[in-house]
Amino acid sequence: METETPVTDHKFMRDINQNRLLNLIRLKAPISRPELSTESGLSPATVLSLTNDLISRQLVIEKGTARIPRGRRPTLLEIDPTGGYAIGLMLREHEAVGVIVNLHSAIISSLHWHQTFSGQDTETIECIVSLVEELIAQAGIARQRIIGMGCAISGYIDSQHGICIDSWQLGWHDFALGQPLSERLQMPVLVSNNVRCICCYENLFGRGQDYQHILTVALGRGLGLGIVSHGNLYSGSLDGAGEFGHTVAIVDGRQCECGHRGCLEAYVAHRGLLTTYGELLKAWGQQQTEPTLDQLLHSPPEDQAALHTFQQAGRLFGIGRANIVNLFNPECIILTGEGVEFGKRFFDPALQALHEHTFSRLDRSLQVILEPWSGYESWARGAGALVLSQFLFSVNS
Ligand SMILES: [Zn+2]
Repeated sequence: METETPVTDHKFMRDINQNRLLNLIRLKAPISRPELSTESGLSPATVLSLTNDLISRQLVIEKGTARIPRGRRPTLLEIDPTGGYAIGLMLREHEAVGVIVNLHSAIISSLHWHQTFSGQDTETIECIVSLVEELIAQAGIARQRIIGMGCAISGYIDSQHGICIDSWQLGWHDFALGQPLSERLQMPVLVSNNVRCICCYENLFGRGQDYQHILTVALGRGLGLGIVSHGNLYSGSLDGAGEFGHTVAIVDGRQCECGHRGCLEAYVAHRGLLTTYGELLKAWGQQQTEPTLDQLLHSPPEDQAALHTFQQAGRLFGIGRANIVNLFNPECIILTGEGVEFGKRFFDPALQALHEHTFSRLDRSLQVILEPWSGYESWARGAGALVLSQFLFSVNS
């Protein structure tokens, strides 16, 4: 007896194949339909049907023809950057940055607000909604062209349910903000860890495009990690993978924001550096008041306390990176965040320690990429890239 394939299965398969084609077009544009058929293994008829659908949805455009020795020249396809938009929002203690990105994940509009989010209540939800509305109005984009919003937050986030489980920076614990934001804004809302958002951007559109195994390390106010394995973001069984900053660097060491002792972040992120610097200045009788971050970052080369602080922290950071190289065996590490401005006093010992502690020859072809710091817009852009990744370019949907 013949059984019919359920309609939902057909649609599911069609969506998967369409995402595969979209991804191929994104990566290999301009590309012809015959090339897409060869690359994807899909029949020419299926490629024709699916790409025509993508064109009618304004996600793909025809642009020029391929040069071939003889016969009819096939039309070339590429992503239409104006075919849709995603909102990316990054929330920090006292500020928010919002961007709207096109399908190339290029920022077409952005806003920066000085805003304190303290409570985990409807007031905060309404505040975020008003910021997003302001951003949409500024961009002048029709609402139906917006695919969704990504919200980047530091800490442990349950992305599947849109819940901020623990963000010490924002003081939010078990705050379910994804669903109310989605209802109020009438669009899909993804909430994710901020470093995972950046990692998503680097993987799809940034410096990680040429690699399959990437680690993105974000250093600055905190220390986070995004993991890409076989081209896909790795999030762990409970969505908590990548808490690099809370791996133990010193047994029974300094108190960390998370409540534990000796976390790496408590030594190499802003607060940790300042604590070490202040301790050294006091011990050496040079300054009794608490130093500022500006003072440390702009300290002269002859400042021995600053040199010592950076060297000590750089070494711990390098050992930490060697540990994650030994665990994940990445092809490349992309280093981003405000911390890229720590300079040679920090990164020279960090690089040396990385190579000293990497197992066997795992660092043989390891690329270490320092991404110049360009502000928090790039983090918000990551949240937008996450939306594009989830709804358009997801290869494993
Ligand atoms: Zn910690």
